Amino acid sequence: MQSLLQVENLQVSFHTQAGEVKAVRGVNFSVNKGEAVAIVGESGCGKSVTAKSIMKLLPGNSAEYKAGNVFFNNQNLLEFSEREMKKLRGNRISMIFQDPMSSLNPTSKIGDQLAEGIIKHKKVSRTVAIIQAIELLEQVGIPHAKSRLNHYPHEFSGGMRQRVMIAMALACEPELLIADEPTTALDVTIQAQILALMKQLQRKLNTSIILITHDLGVVAEVCDRVVVMYAGEVVESGRVEDIFSQPTHPYTKGLMQSVPRLDMDRGSKLSSIIGSPPDLLDPPKGCSFYPRCESAMKVCKEFSPKLAKINLSQESACWLNHPLAQAAASRGEKL
Ligand code: SF4
Ligand code: MG
Repeated sequence: MQSLLQVENLQVSFHTQAGEVKAVRGVNFSVNKGEAVAIVGESGCGKSVTAKSIMKLLPGNSAEYKAGNVFFNNQNLLEFSEREMKKLRGNRISMIFQDPMSSLNPTSKIGDQLAEGIIKHKKVSRTVAIIQAIELLEQVGIPHAKSRLNHYPHEFSGGMRQRVMIAMALACEPELLIADEPTTALDVTIQAQILALMKQLQRKLNTSIILITHDLGVVAEVCDRVVVMYAGEVVESGRVEDIFSQPTHPYTKGLMQSVPRLDMDRGSKLSSIIGSPPDLLDPPKGCSFYPRCESAMKVCKEFSPKLAKINLSQESACWLNHPLAQAAASRGEKL
């Protein structure tokens, strides 16, 4: 499979009154063409910041890229000017964020916004674009779609705006769709429709998807691969079936504990793990999961484990996977 996006050693900090918050601390992952990758983890683990970093949508006055590269079709987005980024956003890369107002133009009618996107991307006449806009609005579950074309974003309820935003993202037929908790605020029927639309897009146009979610049911349904984040780092990644059936990192195991099967109901949430993540103003020097980890060893407190291959698809950052730890364990000792 051809690679579309490679995030390499991404490090992002926020400068706050309390000091430097190291929100993303050396994140690595890639997305192939036509692949759907989930990013999961507790709130504050850096999922949304990672997504916004890819799009360069972080607040310029407080956020700082400390290191790393984001390659999209082999071009480093971190070297792109704001003008070049504007050409990419909502065109080759579409986003669906939790806050729909961030991607809708408040001063333009919904029908015009949708038609504009469709004309730009599909080079069709305005009449055809309007017909397709109505179809898209119907697909995302907007009632009386035709009569709503002349309405402005503020005339829609929050949930309806979210659907409009999803229609906008789909209208561009992007190469990469980044969706941050796209269905959280929607009812179950609409959730299912939206996910089906995303899957359709993936199949029909070979669109790649990054899906940020708390909902492991959605992950199982839509995604091919999972990236598990903790305290601004990737702690494990792998194919969905491997991560669900044989998680290797203690944090991933904790997340999966409430989720024994792939065919569970949508809406199953991440199980809560006792304790809370470390303060990213002053991250620990060893493994960031150390204070909450039942398997912690002496080495974990001092040295941070690196992401290492477990098998062909799976990577994990945990000292338990180190050959020395496994040799020690077989002698009944801990490192
Ligand atoms: Fe637990 Fe140590 Fe593995 Fe961290 S490195 S997850 S503390 S066993
Ligand atoms: Mg978030």
